[in-house]
Amino acid sequence: MEKLSNYINGAYLAPVDLKYFDNFDPSTGEVYCLIPDSDEQDLDLAITAAESAFPIWSSMSAEERSKILIRFSEGIEKRMEEFVAAESKDNGKPITLARHVDIPRAVSNFHFFATAILHFASESHYMEGVGINYTTRKPIGIVGCISPWNLPLYLFTWKIAPALAAGNCVIAKPSEITPYTATLLGEIATEAGLPAGVLNILNGKGSQIGDAIVRHPKVKAISFTGGTATGEHIARTAAPMFKKLSLELGGKNPTIIFDDCDFEDALTTTVRSSFANQGQICLCGSRIFVQKGIYEKFKNAFIEKINKSIVSYPQDPKAHLGAIVSEQHMEKVLSYIQLAKEEGGQIRTGGNRVFLPAPHDKGYYLAPTIIEGLPYDCRTNQEEIFGPVVTISVFETEEEVLAAANSTKYGLASSVWTTNLKKAHRVADQLDMGIVWINAWLVRDLRTPFGGVKASGVGREGGWEALRFFTEAKNIFVKVD
Ligand code: NAD
Repeated sequence: MEKLSNYINGAYLAPVDLKYFDNFDPSTGEVYCLIPDSDEQDLDLAITAAESAFPIWSSMSAEERSKILIRFSEGIEKRMEEFVAAESKDNGKPITLARHVDIPRAVSNFHFFATAILHFASESHYMEGVGINYTTRKPIGIVGCISPWNLPLYLFTWKIAPALAAGNCVIAKPSEITPYTATLLGEIATEAGLPAGVLNILNGKGSQIGDAIVRHPKVKAISFTGGTATGEHIARTAAPMFKKLSLELGGKNPTIIFDDCDFEDALTTTVRSSFANQGQICLCGSRIFVQKGIYEKFKNAFIEKINKSIVSYPQDPKAHLGAIVSEQHMEKVLSYIQLAKEEGGQIRTGGNRVFLPAPHDKGYYLAPTIIEGLPYDCRTNQEEIFGPVVTISVFETEEEVLAAANSTKYGLASSVWTTNLKKAHRVADQLDMGIVWINAWLVRDLRTPFGGVKASGVGREGGWEALRFFTEAKNIFVKVD
């Protein structure tokens, strides 16, 4: 069986202890490759490599680094179909989604930051008659990038690209549930001419190699995307060492649909925002609030559309929903459907596991699920489920829906549907979220600040925010008279 490797100092290496664990294909429930169970020994090799590479990489001009990162972007693009097939197999997502969203976005991440770094200017503040302040922004040194399983290469590269563009050396760890495309990225790095040791990719468990990266005194900053509980643990570990931290965490996003919305647009987009990637996108709307005047009409049309969704194996081009990423996660989602029933929710569609014919009969498939009749403050409406499960509720007034939308501990994203411009601005302003889409969902401009408030995270990614995170500012003052 294929054994994945770590990518350290420009070469693929087996873990020092030669220990591995299973990687499952969620579409069949079968083990299809083995993942290095890396530990501190592997990290030490990566740190040594990164330390020697840092003076070389950080002293290269932005133009030179940019050229190499452009080659990264082109390298992935050239092998698009290979990456697409690997991502879809590893994660269970429909191949069409990997082809149209995940891998093109990894290409864009490198291209965007390769060019952004050429325009990254620092500030100067003139004090009339006194002097001038100018700010330099230097790379931090060795940084850790830890990413989740839902958009594997998309989110892995969203961190690595700005970290490298800014001149840092990177120790990166993909999720142990979806390590395949991140591991392939090592080949791209070598082909792109990245100096050895600048990017090191370590595979293994979060509790072991992830934790070791966070604890290592030579790793000066951690950029993490994942669950809120893990983020809290990382913050507790890293804060006493004064590491820079960027935490992109969970969400429980509201979709707010007013009577005066463009009905068809709201309906079609809400199908996507609820169930794209089997509902496993941190930005998916999992609480749908519909105003009373169109509630019944919207609910019925929504259920009708969802009933036509095709749940199938990831390679089926007709699949709207593929497999849930792991058996454990599928069980978690099923336990929330059970909880919703206990809390008095009525399952309007779905609510069950789907069994496909062999060879996918042991795969982890769930029917898209719509639940009605739950109060906004019950656990089902407060806790992140992160699967193909949404609740739908009726509201009457703006005040009422804002109170419900803002009631969870999370504050990542929201989608608001209305044709009334003033109302759109008013509601957007009062939503306690890092991201608000009006009459849209998941429209991304890589220059914009990306991230959440409250338990959804600390800091922002994207554009200058990312380049600022991955650099240290120094202010220098010069007296003029
Ligand atoms: P997770 O927290 O279990 O794991 C994320 C990563 O952290 C993995 O690589 C894991 O190995 C590692 N990890 C786990 N324990 C660690 C530890 N003690 N120290 C260091 N690293 C550790 O999250 P997940 O289940 O992979 O991903 C799903 C979660 O990610 C959801 O909550 C989702 O909302 C969130 N997410 C957030 C965003 C965002 O941008 N805000 C984007 C995608 C996913």
